[in-house]
Amino acid sequence: MPRTKFIIFTGGVLSGLGKGIAAASIGGLLSSKYKVIPVKCDGYLNVDPGTMNPIEHGEVFVLDDGAEVDMDFGHYERFIGVTCKSEWNLTMGKVFDAVRRKERKGDYLGKTVQFIPHVTELIKEWWLQIAKKEKADILLIELGGTIGDIENELFVEAARQLRDEVGRKHIMYSHLTYVPIPYGVREQKSKPTQQSINLLRQKGIKPDLIIGRCAEKLDDKIKEKIATFCDVSKGAVISGVDVKNVYKIPLTFEDEKIAKIIRRTLGVHAKPVSKKWRKLVDNMDNPKHEVNIAICGKYTRLEDSYASIVEALWHSAAHLKCKMKIHFIETSGLRKAGELLEGIDGVIVPGGFGSRGIEGKIKVIQYCRENNVPFLGICYGLQLAVAEFARNVCGLKGAVSTEVDPKTKHPVIDILPEQRTVENKGGTMRLGAYPAILKKGTKIFELYGKENVSERHRHRYEINPVYHNILEKNGLMMAGMSPNKKLAEFIEFKYHDYFVGCQGHPELKSSLLKPAPLFYGLVRAAVKGKK
Ligand code: GLN
Repeated sequence: MPRTKFIIFTGGVLSGLGKGIAAASIGGLLSSKYKVIPVKCDGYLNVDPGTMNPIEHGEVFVLDDGAEVDMDFGHYERFIGVTCKSEWNLTMGKVFDAVRRKERKGDYLGKTVQFIPHVTELIKEWWLQIAKKEKADILLIELGGTIGDIENELFVEAARQLRDEVGRKHIMYSHLTYVPIPYGVREQKSKPTQQSINLLRQKGIKPDLIIGRCAEKLDDKIKEKIATFCDVSKGAVISGVDVKNVYKIPLTFEDEKIAKIIRRTLGVHAKPVSKKWRKLVDNMDNPKHEVNIAICGKYTRLEDSYASIVEALWHSAAHLKCKMKIHFIETSGLRKAGELLEGIDGVIVPGGFGSRGIEGKIKVIQYCRENNVPFLGICYGLQLAVAEFARNVCGLKGAVSTEVDPKTKHPVIDILPEQRTVENKGGTMRLGAYPAILKKGTKIFELYGKENVSERHRHRYEINPVYHNILEKNGLMMAGMSPNKKLAEFIEFKYHDYFVGCQGHPELKSSLLKPAPLFYGLVRAAVKGKK
């Protein structure tokens, strides 16, 4: 394709409608034929979400290149199948940072630096640079938030201006909105959509595609009404019907003839969803075994805090034809581990920071280890598994991470040497993809099916190498090491059906077509344990 086509994706009415997944699904439909590059614009002033509490903004997603980015990148990677890059997440924090640097350098000498044109120019330039650098066939630009939010106005204005720059035939505006069915009325209501599109049109953008998120399929009458009131053709309004399984969304869009709309607007051709994808979705709808998996953490108030973990579990469940129930268990309370885990077939202790809830997690881990309950410790989960093992098997009383107690007698988890001098909090952890070499004969090796693996990291602490020996002697294998053999990146307890830990976050690279091996191992062990 000679030049990049642009798809701008905005959302209206309210947040939480699944704009990221909808955008990713469209990207997925196009990606088998075209090079689709996703870009996410967020209006907040943080440079990246790495410094935010996941309870506020959902999970922080980490890329191979070490960027901490918006969780929508998880959807992009899972649906589009690309490995995303740091620059593809443009926050207002980054924009202002760049504008200010340019101003100090003298790039605007003599000028009054203004939102329009200087900030909007910079945003457009950023997008066009990515398109050029990546030789993108399609640049899929999702604008965060909801139309009308002050903080996203500049992105919306830049998206409007882009039309004149690239030409009307090369840009498509898509808008996700909400069609409620109020209790007692039992009728699909179009008013919120009309208002949201009105706002969009006031800003100079007329959508080519409107997706109405609704509890049921939009009926013809409502599609027509939206089309008339919003001045689009009837064929441009499609249903974004609620689904339990997000991997069905590309299929529902396909049924709604989204390909035709894209073809008409941009002249590009979406391909049908692959047979393999359909089969896996079908497996999810017709499961054979039921398993109960617990995620024991402290951000359980917002399930989005563990979004990729949940997805990784679903990927494995699809391959193993499981009906999976995920239980979020808050470990800060005082209930006994045995009680907490009643009826649970497998446990994940996910990543985390600080001391709140850790003793509860350690009790849960001990229970799993002693009762042969399949267990996967991720990052902090691995570290706490080591602390539990050191205390209760190796006899190192009170062993813990120096993150929790800097003066502990047994610092089995300690800060990485290169982290000692770090002062700034943003973007300074050990971040991104790191290789490891797996030990042959371990379950972890069997699951990955190879020796050289790579997972994405986000941490400051590691298993203290001084303790590798004593842990190993007692049966906790250092199952995967960094290539220089200094850092233990994977652990596995010898005398257990499935007790493994990973210092990285394998959930970040899991996809429906290729589930993360350690998650697959956990779900498989949970099914087996049940039998
Ligand atoms: N707090 C731990 C560390 O910094 C674990 C981090 C995590 O779980 N992502 O090493």
